Amino acid sequence: MPGPFTEDIARLIQLDALDQELLALQAEQVETPQALETRRGDIAAASEARDAIASELQTQEAKQRDAERELEEVERRQARAHKRMESLSTNEQIAATEREIAKLGEQIDTLEGDVLEVMEEVDGLTERLASATSAIDGAQAGLDADKATWDPRQAVITGRIAELEAAIGEVKPTIGAEAAKAYLIGYENRGNRHHRGATFTDGVMCTMCRTEAPARWVNEARNGDGIHRCLGCKRVLVGAAPKTEGADDEESEEA
Ligand SMILES: [Zn+2]
Repeated sequence: MPGPFTEDIARLIQLDALDQELLALQAEQVETPQALETRRGDIAAASEARDAIASELQTQEAKQRDAERELEEVERRQARAHKRMESLSTNEQIAATEREIAKLGEQIDTLEGDVLEVMEEVDGLTERLASATSAIDGAQAGLDADKATWDPRQAVITGRIAELEAAIGEVKPTIGAEAAKAYLIGYENRGNRHHRGATFTDGVMCTMCRTEAPARWVNEARNGDGIHRCLGCKRVLVGAAPKTEGADDEESEEA
């Protein structure tokens, strides 16, 4: 035989489901645009960093061109000195030109080293620029896609919130004063991380905060004989949790 609070507890379960869906949608409405904005900001920051790489690359490429030009110039001078050797006759002239060629050779070695160094720098920057660009392009494409799905989703949420508020408005007045008050205490309890007025039990354990409830309360909640609140989270005990599809899946996976 159903107890005096059977009806109230059934309505609290209904109200709880409506409230939870409403809270989730309200959170989504606030958090999704914030998350999109954060991603937009991250992309802007990454683009700035990418531009800095691009400008450093230009600097290094200019350095490379300068070093290559200087190298060519010294090589030309050395070639001219070699050419001159053919027409020299005195030992002093030959010795002086040999010294000049050797000195230019040293300069060439140094400049070749400089060119190699700056070429490595250019290669590294080119790679970094390409990977930064592709990361930014990927992030931007993802953001554009998520923004595109958010617009219609926003409209769906707004519509559903209006429906939920209407349904909540209908259910609330049908709940007895004691049950309604107990629900509100659980819902408003500042010690809880989430607004929620009701909780199911798993055995004698509150499924929300894992506090044990007296067995008599659990039974009375199940039978509709009394309104009791969890000793931990203060939410109204509304009986055993209905079997979820997730639990069934787990069983089938084990089998
Ligand atoms: Zn609890």
